[in-house]
Amino acid sequence: MKMFGKTTKLLVASALIAGLATAATAAQKVYKWKLATTWGPTLHPFIDAPTKMAEMVEKMSDGRLQIRIDASNKHKSAFGILDMVKGGQYEMGHSASYYWKGKDINLLPFTTMPFGMTAPEQYAWFYYGGGMELMQKAYAKHKVLSYPGGNTGNQMGGWFRKEINSLDDLKGLKMRIPGFAGEIMAKLGLTVTNIAPGELYTSLERGTIDALEWVGPGMDIKMGFHKIAPYYYTGWHEPATELQFLVNERAFKKLPKDLQEILVTAMKLSSYDMYIQNYDMSAKAWDSIAKEYPNIKIKTLPKEVMDAMKKANDELLVEMTKDQPLLKEVLDSQKAYQKKARAWTEMSDYLYLKDNL
Ligand code: CA
Repeated sequence: MKMFGKTTKLLVASALIAGLATAATAAQKVYKWKLATTWGPTLHPFIDAPTKMAEMVEKMSDGRLQIRIDASNKHKSAFGILDMVKGGQYEMGHSASYYWKGKDINLLPFTTMPFGMTAPEQYAWFYYGGGMELMQKAYAKHKVLSYPGGNTGNQMGGWFRKEINSLDDLKGLKMRIPGFAGEIMAKLGLTVTNIAPGELYTSLERGTIDALEWVGPGMDIKMGFHKIAPYYYTGWHEPATELQFLVNERAFKKLPKDLQEILVTAMKLSSYDMYIQNYDMSAKAWDSIAKEYPNIKIKTLPKEVMDAMKKANDELLVEMTKDQPLLKEVLDSQKAYQKKARAWTEMSDYLYLKDNL
């Protein structure tokens, strides 16, 4: 009896030590991940969102989760991000959901929609209006998780070689314009294409395309588009472009709970940081346009064109959602939220700005 008691105590003690050792090993285990981006290594501020996220994660986890960022010049597959994260070659990606519309139409609306929500409205929809749940629902079959990855705010409508005075001026133009806006332009008679960021200038210079949209003054002017296509149009098509972080679901589940929380928090914070960084870049660039780039002509598309775009937008939405229940669910949710939030935006920001410009 006495012997038995001693053995039991010993067993309990060794089990305790083993347990502590396991916990210590788990706490010290270093996870080394890789993240692939659609962007080149100097494409600020897009590349900064994943870079800052990885720096925060490493510091907050005391080095237990390390994420290497591979820009597009490394993996050479700017539009292969979803596939690479899905396949597990990369645990994470940083890109934009509307680039995957050809693979899965349900992924289209999670970036921005023409005539859709502004950035604050859309962030409210994502985090408090059911948007995140719908995004995870749409990505579930790909076994990846998607999170907001930084917002550009309202984008400029793009660069054209000639002034657009009528619908006829648009017909036959070859334009780089992604997402649902591309579908609208195609319906108006343009030839629409998507081109990787690193090849935009050359494509315009060589005449592969006649016009393009990219982001806003903060990012566009550095690209030099104005040297070839000086007509710079105000936006209609991307009022709140949200980039995305993609995470391989299996890899995420293997992380201890504290590292999961650190990762999610760092993604959210770096996204917000990119939004304000881009706002700052655009504000400064806009301020310099009149002085430093007098050849740039700022224009707004004529009413005839805007009306035709809105009509095409409404018709295409009906066509596209016909046999797509999930796409319809997402778009209906966005539309309902926009209606509600816009009334407040009008009451607060719009009326304030109207009287204070
Ligand atoms: Ca764009």
